[in-house]
Amino acid sequence: MKNKRNFSPKRQAILNALLSTKDHPTVEWVCEQVKRQYPNISLATVYRNIAQLKEDGYAITVGTVDGYERLDGTTNPHPHFICRKCNAVVDVELAAEEDIMCQAVNKQYGIAAERCDITFWGYCQNCQK
Ligand SMILES: [Zn+2]
Ligand SMILES: [Zn+2]
Repeated sequence: MKNKRNFSPKRQAILNALLSTKDHPTVEWVCEQVKRQYPNISLATVYRNIAQLKEDGYAITVGTVDGYERLDGTTNPHPHFICRKCNAVVDVELAAEEDIMCQAVNKQYGIAAERCDITFWGYCQNCQK
């Protein structure tokens, strides 16, 4: 776990909600969770706190799926799979290939890429049925 620093209790509650799931939630979902503890919290407040968490390196954006930003409390680079039908966002393991892709692009362009954010799009097991 990272240092808890001196987050406000609300920001800590927002981060806890984000870390409580592997589903890469929307800001709206996080807001609903935090409302159990702080019924009067507004979506704007949650947005503002999440923006700060992102800036401080405690959260990242996976991307926009069906019009909603999807968040991730796992901030080390990792590839994702996004289902086009049910909008599920899941982590997939692909460490070796990422290194190989960085090496390939570095060789080709003379740059020094250290990471690449890979996102796969398609249909999850359920949605293929
Ligand atoms: Zn699906
Ligand atoms: Zn993830």
